[in-house]
Amino acid sequence: MKTGKIIDVKCRCGYTLFRYYKAGKGRLIKCIISRLTEDFVGLKGAETFSRPKCPKCGKELGIIKMIHGEPALKLNQGTIETIRL
Ligand SMILES: [Zn+2]
Repeated sequence: MKTGKIIDVKCRCGYTLFRYYKAGKGRLIKCIISRLTEDFVGLKGAETFSRPKCPKCGKELGIIKMIHGEPALKLNQGTIETIRL
């Protein structure tokens, strides 16, 4: 059985950025875009190497990269609220 959980990922300003199905334990480092269950920022369809921003405070959330052939957001740890499972 797979372990995983849907988590709310928030900016440090408090804005909820997206919901994400996180598999396994540990700190959230990157998010596979196809695993977002809600997307309040418009990450789906963002171009590779673009740097999405928080719609509220304008801080960069990270950078879109291809990971194992899938677009993913590598999180800027300074902007995203720390999440541990
Ligand atoms: Zn923000």
